[in-house]
Amino acid sequence: MKYYSTNGKAPLADLQKAVVKGLAEDRGLYMPEEIYKLPQAFFDDMKGMSFQDIAYNVASNFFGEDVDEDALQDLVFDTLSFDCPIVKVEENIYSLELFHGPTLAFKDVGARFMARLLQYFLRVAPSGAVGGSVNVLVATSGDTGSAVANGFLGVEGIHVYVLYPKGKVSPIQECQFTTLGKNITAIEVDGVFDDCQALVKSAFMDEELNKHMMLTSANSINVARFLPQAFYYFNAVARLAALGYQPSDIVMCVPSGNFGNICAALFGHQMGLPIHRFIAANNANDVFYEYLQTGQYNPRPSVQTLANAMDVGDPSNFARILNLYSGNGSLSPAETHQRITSLISGATYSDEQIADTMRQCYKETGYILDPHGACGYQALKDNLRPGEVGVFCETAHPAKFKEKVDSILGTDIEIPDRLAAFMKGQKQSVAMSKDFKNFKEYLMKQ
Ligand SMILES: *Cc1c(COP(=O)(O)O)cnc(C)c1O
Repeated sequence: MKYYSTNGKAPLADLQKAVVKGLAEDRGLYMPEEIYKLPQAFFDDMKGMSFQDIAYNVASNFFGEDVDEDALQDLVFDTLSFDCPIVKVEENIYSLELFHGPTLAFKDVGARFMARLLQYFLRVAPSGAVGGSVNVLVATSGDTGSAVANGFLGVEGIHVYVLYPKGKVSPIQECQFTTLGKNITAIEVDGVFDDCQALVKSAFMDEELNKHMMLTSANSINVARFLPQAFYYFNAVARLAALGYQPSDIVMCVPSGNFGNICAALFGHQMGLPIHRFIAANNANDVFYEYLQTGQYNPRPSVQTLANAMDVGDPSNFARILNLYSGNGSLSPAETHQRITSLISGATYSDEQIADTMRQCYKETGYILDPHGACGYQALKDNLRPGEVGVFCETAHPAKFKEKVDSILGTDIEIPDRLAAFMKGQKQSVAMSKDFKNFKEYLMKQ
């Protein structure tokens, strides 16, 4: 499969290059030239298949031309050592729990898959583009760092540097990437998240550093990071079908920040996954919601909210969504907008509304939402029509945001063993100023 750039000014890339580089030379996002439909027989059989088997079929349809069959199967089964159940919250509303992986949030799947795919390319092409070893730089305000660090932990030939703002990450999040050791180095930056991101960007642009070491990123701009999230949606439809629901009634609601997760769902839809329509749920960062209403896209700085993993003012995967529905550039912006709004609607919630939703849901159903999932649940409550069945993604385990959840609900929720285990580990990190000169000096010595 060849991959083109959404900016249309970079040469075509193969999968290996798209995964290693992440971003195309013209700063666009890579898109596959072709998205194949899965055969009807697969959809007919899906409800009797396991999550892992469903995922392998999807992965094979997408990556099968570029990755050896046995290796791909190993890769998928290694990535999905956990389940993604749907849980009934109330009549016709289900929670798709994407938090049963190692760090209790949905990014685990993409991070692990990407780590294993990079490792595969290191093995099959040791002297090729990858050149023997790869260094992943990732800036995090919390969730991405833990998913990437754990996904890449112990994967040979790859070293991960997680940059995070000192004192700005919750203790539960911090311990998930500072206690691992091995090939994971946590770098505690004396600054804010934007300083961490600026350090990473400067590193990617520094010629001398890029000659010294192979650098790559692991955020949802990467094809290998976002696409595996499509597995979740195929599984959701299969489980609902097994309960007797018609695919033509399913509304999928995805709490969104950078729009990687919903983008994966939309790729699934392009592969033929029968979902009736989608809702993108936002917190107060509502540029996508505004685009749906007006056709105008006005990126702006993000504002801080309770659902902080969705605090994004210029969602990177917006370019992919536009591209997906632009008829290969043949449609006008207005026609593209029309296609998008006929499939996707939006919702936006303030912190106050998020907290109210969490309290209402807990009181009436006993289900504990995290602030991100709360946006998804409320968007279904507000938009579901008669005859439809709604599924919202519960993107993280509420215990990941224990302080907030407890103070809103007046609970003392239990911390799952997996999370508690991280908290027992010894914190190790490298202190760094926000000055690129120091960061570069440090990397040049590695
Ligand atoms: C990353 C994240 C999101 C947003 O996902 P996108 O793919 O960036 O849209 C939502 N909830 C949680 C808990 C997250 O970690």
